[in-house]
Amino acid sequence: MRHIGHFIGGKHVAGTSGHSGDVFDPASGEITAKVAMANASEVDKAVAAANAAWPAWAATPPLRRARTMFKLRELLERDRRELSAIVTSEHGKVLSDADGEVQRGLEVVEFASGIPHLLKGEYTDQVGTGIDAWSIRQPLGVVAGITPFNFPIMVPLWMIPVALATGNCFVLKPSEKDPSVALKLADLMKEAGVPDGVFSVVQGGRDAVEAIIAHPGIAAISFVGSTAIAETIYRGGTSAGKRVQALGGAKNHMVIMPDANIDDAVDALMGSAYGAAGERCMAVSVAVTVGSAGDALMSKLAPRVRALKVAPGVDPDAEMGPLVTREHLEKVRGYVDTGVKEGADLVVDGRGLKLQGYENGFFLGGCLFDNVTADMRIYKEEIFGPVLSVMRAPDVATATKLINAHQYGNGVALFTNDGGVARDFTQAIQIGMVGINVPIPVPMAFHSFGGWKQSLFGDHHIYGMEGVRFYTRYKAVTQRWTAGTRRGPEFTMPTPGR
Ligand code: NAD
Repeated sequence: MRHIGHFIGGKHVAGTSGHSGDVFDPASGEITAKVAMANASEVDKAVAAANAAWPAWAATPPLRRARTMFKLRELLERDRRELSAIVTSEHGKVLSDADGEVQRGLEVVEFASGIPHLLKGEYTDQVGTGIDAWSIRQPLGVVAGITPFNFPIMVPLWMIPVALATGNCFVLKPSEKDPSVALKLADLMKEAGVPDGVFSVVQGGRDAVEAIIAHPGIAAISFVGSTAIAETIYRGGTSAGKRVQALGGAKNHMVIMPDANIDDAVDALMGSAYGAAGERCMAVSVAVTVGSAGDALMSKLAPRVRALKVAPGVDPDAEMGPLVTREHLEKVRGYVDTGVKEGADLVVDGRGLKLQGYENGFFLGGCLFDNVTADMRIYKEEIFGPVLSVMRAPDVATATKLINAHQYGNGVALFTNDGGVARDFTQAIQIGMVGINVPIPVPMAFHSFGGWKQSLFGDHHIYGMEGVRFYTRYKAVTQRWTAGTRRGPEFTMPTPGR
């Protein structure tokens, strides 16, 4: 049995807590490895290594830190097939999708390669006679990232390149469900020239997270995961005096107007509802059809969901792989049962799917509900599986009101051919990321990612300039060089501009 350990102070180390978790191949259902579950003392070792490395890393010119990122980008490109294969082996998603996640992570590395420009402050000469003023942004120190199973390389790369390029040291606590790719990333960082201790990986679950929250040597936490944990980490971390950004769960709607191109909308729904088996925080899980769009959409969508090609992620023809664990499969299946009990119409039922040779894999076929209403649990809660709910609305105002009343506010999409409707919708909708005729509007690395309402706790979205602000502290400097001109004490408020 393979044992997955930690990476601390530039070295791979075995777990010492005595606790481990099972890692599965979701396609076969077999246990493929045991992952170490860190305790507080292992977290402490990673933080101690990071604190020791921090002064030199913070003092390294941003241009040199940027060159390290540039090298990392090259290595990620070199090893992208291997990275994708590791992701598929533990997450289950299809290989092309895993490659897409590597690409989106790599783009944040590209963004961070421009850090000297992004760290430039503002300068004003002569704020008073002989006095100049400027601002700089300085790193926070040691920061931690706690990441979810569904993007085991992309989400860590939403955080690490920006944190490191701005001069912080980073301790990553990946998901215990697919922990291997983080260690491969650690190897690439080392090869790129990231000094020992600047980046560490501690594997584990709740114990490790609680140790991170409590550790006085950690200045900030970036979290991505489910809402309940996001809120706990936000409250715990901020009470402990840390800066925290905690991104949570989602229920993303796609509104389809009667004037939309229905074929485009169907294609968009297929990819965004069933891609990655719906295990994306930006997955569309609710389609809100307006007026006549409902029947037009359903007649084309249902046969496509029935024809969805579900297979192991390594199958080049697979459109959708298995769910991540048996436990998660049972949870998602339970939601489908609930939807039926609640009175929604289950137009396509994927619960009976069996794949020959993969009978123990965590597969579920695509499920499609029609006539879902706002009082149903399958509408109110995040399912995080290949289950799409279709709702009917008489007009766009009703659809907007429905979406704005939902607890989550991550992403939303509108499919229409009317620019005026699109503009009004964009203004009125209370959601962090909006797509017009774009189903999964994940902002590029030079913008920033984040939801509203229960989808994000904290003040900053992630990566892009929001990331630079999150991982740095603002300092304002006012300076006078007029040696020898004695001014005597001044007891009034300084007014250099007078
Ligand atoms: P999760 O909340 O179960 O786990 C996330 C992290 O928290 C993991 O590292 C896990 O080990 C840790 N954790 C789990 N339980 C904990 C506990 N009781 N105490 C402390 N730490 C704990 O989430 P997941 O199942 O890995 O990922 C899926 C969730 O993440 C979905 O809700 C999805 O919407 C969300 N997500 C959100 C975004 C976003 O950008 N908003 C992106 C990806 C995933």
